[in-house]
Amino acid sequence: MTALAAAPAGHAADPITVILLILGTAAGYAVSLYLWPLRTCTRCHGTRVSPGGARRFHSCKRCHGTGRIRRIGATAVHRFYWSALGDQHRERRRAKLARRRQHAGPPEP
Ligand SMILES: [Zn+2]
Repeated sequence: MTALAAAPAGHAADPITVILLILGTAAGYAVSLYLWPLRTCTRCHGTRVSPGGARRFHSCKRCHGTGRIRRIGATAVHRFYWSALGDQHRERRRAKLARRRQHAGPPEP
C-alpha cells in the first residue's frame, strides 16, 4: 500500500537542478538572441518579396523588404544590454570626474 514511498527517490528530479537547467537555457537563449537578433523572415523566407502574386512583386510587409525579422525577445535583450552598458558608462564617467576633481584639489583652502 506504500507505492509512493517505494518509488526510488534518488532518480527524482531535483527541483534546484531543474531551476538551474531552466535558468541556463534562458541565459543561453538570451545570449543567442543577443548574438543573432535577426532571423529569416517567416513570410517571404528571405526573398524580400510578398509571396502572394507572381506577376506583381510587392515588398514583404512583415520584414519591410529586408528579408529578415527580429526574433522574439531580441529587442528586449538588446534594450537591457544597452541600458546596463549605459549605466556602467555613466558610473565610470562619474568616477573619472570625481577623481579629476580630487586630483585638481579644492580651489579654496
Ligand atoms: Zn519578409
